[in-house]
Amino acid sequence: MSEKKVFQASPEAKGEAKKLRIFAVIAWLLAMAGQAYAIFNLISDEMMMWLIGAIVVILILAITGSTLWKKANRLDPASEKEPTRFFIQNQLGAIMGVLAFLPMVVMILNNKDISGKTKGIAGSIAAIAMVAAGVTGADFNPPSVEKYTEEINAQTEAAKSLSIDSDNVYWSKAGNKYHAYDDCYHIKNKAVTTGSIKESWEQKGISELCKTCQKKAAKNSVSSGVKELIEAN
Ligand SMILES: [Zn+2]
Repeated sequence: MSEKKVFQASPEAKGEAKKLRIFAVIAWLLAMAGQAYAIFNLISDEMMMWLIGAIVVILILAITGSTLWKKANRLDPASEKEPTRFFIQNQLGAIMGVLAFLPMVVMILNNKDISGKTKGIAGSIAAIAMVAAGVTGADFNPPSVEKYTEEINAQTEAAKSLSIDSDNVYWSKAGNKYHAYDDCYHIKNKAVTTGSIKESWEQKGISELCKTCQKKAAKNSVSSGVKELIEAN
């Protein structure tokens, strides 16, 4: 049985990803609005402390946006077959992070009414915030349909080698693991879904075998191996 298991996000995962992306866009829009307000009202010697406060708020909004955005990409990844879309979808957090500060940095550095001291302090804080937002927004290990497909197949093989039934594993909505045993204490008293390893990925995004279940399965497969050896002799 060599069934080809290509990853495809479930409608629920796509719906959840859409929600996260909407919140991400709202956070970025608020960051942009904050930047516009700061540019028009806060670039002056008297307002420098307020400007720094605004930079902190904008940075928090930018990072919140990109965190939600990356989470959405893990539920509903892009395909490497479309390189442009793949790049933009995965690096949008970095792009938005830089855009949330670049105009402000330019405006601070080109302002003729502020003192050199204000320019130096506010300009470098805004520049540092821009780099921080850009770096935290970038995805250095972007998820993709192809990577997920490869990972699911590798995990299915690994499960088989532990004699785990890869078509009947268990997971709860909140965790990012799947379990080989429905009586595992990690999923006790939780609403549990049953399905294949592939389905756990499609519903939850990134997912791996629970360590407790892995140990138990390893023990079981060793003891059944020993039993077989004993019986064979
Ligand atoms: Zn478990």
